[in-house]
Amino acid sequence: MERVVIIGSGPAGLTAAIYAARADLSPLVLAGGLYGGQLMLTTEVENYPGFVDGIQGPELMERFRAQAERFGARIENVDAVAVDFTRRPLQVSTAERTYETETVIVATGASARWLNVPGEERLRGRGVSSCATCDGAFFRDKRIAVVGGGDSAMEEALFLTRFGSSVTVIHRRDSLRASKIMAQRAQAHPKISFIWNTVVEEVLGDEHVTALRLRDLENGRTYEAPFDALFVAIGHDPNTAIFRGQLELDDKGYIVSPDGVHTNVEGVFVAGDVNDTRYRQAITAAGAGCKAALEAEKFLEAETAHTPAMLS
Ligand code: NAP
Repeated sequence: MERVVIIGSGPAGLTAAIYAARADLSPLVLAGGLYGGQLMLTTEVENYPGFVDGIQGPELMERFRAQAERFGARIENVDAVAVDFTRRPLQVSTAERTYETETVIVATGASARWLNVPGEERLRGRGVSSCATCDGAFFRDKRIAVVGGGDSAMEEALFLTRFGSSVTVIHRRDSLRASKIMAQRAQAHPKISFIWNTVVEEVLGDEHVTALRLRDLENGRTYEAPFDALFVAIGHDPNTAIFRGQLELDDKGYIVSPDGVHTNVEGVFVAGDVNDTRYRQAITAAGAGCKAALEAEKFLEAETAHTPAMLS
């Protein structure tokens, strides 16, 4: 029987692992086949406190992992494929086996939606990004494109005006989905321009992005437009498929938690982007992981206090 099973191994999951391990709970982390979360897809991280000169995303996650292991976290690079939270002990299954556990910390994160066009994946981290806060500063005085018409796209575009020589929002329709205030702010900004009714068909460049092949949906015309960066801001999807029917989810699939830590099931806690539609930063996820581990520890202490001592 496990005391704490942590599902996910981004900043939220591994910070929870560090805290739970230091509390002597020997947590089991089901890290996923592709462990490390979204930072594994980033290049340099300059806004994680403590790293004055920045650090590569994958290296940061290696350090999180090593720190958790140093205190006794057991980290398995396997995916959780099913859970049963209707019974106690709670159950978490991988393809190989089922674990029984007193508590679970869900830190499965969210995945940025991508356009899935040629060149996008190849040039990720070389001009293609889904996170302006992470990567915007690499494009000082460059021509930046942002795809999307929602609040995320407007927020990213506005943020990117600090760096780019120009910021161009490319949207597939002729009107924005974004809230009025965000749309107005973006449309009023002198550095931001819009290309309407247009989709990106291909990201071009050898070592880094040099241009986008665009298609005008009104007249079907395809053309190349020079850009140095492409920020894809078409939404995120929380990784919650295995929790459907087990935890309360909102209409977008995010785990519902009134305080950002507890879920509707006792002993199941949540941390990071799987519950966060607003901040989505490595540091906020790490903070949430810390909170979840502290709550799990408190829950286990209370359970132990309520369990009658065995008669000898
Ligand atoms: P969103 O509202 O779902 O908008 C996604 C945008 O991307 C839409 O304009 C959509 O176009 C476009 N899109 C989707 N798939 C596409 C594709 N394959 N190719 C091209 N374009 C595509 O997502 P979001 O902007 O991430 O916002 C998510 C939620 O978080 C919203 O509720 C939002 O209000 C909230 N949010 C709030 C703030 C804020 O208040 N500061 C900031 C960020 C997010 P269509 O319009 O044609 O569907």
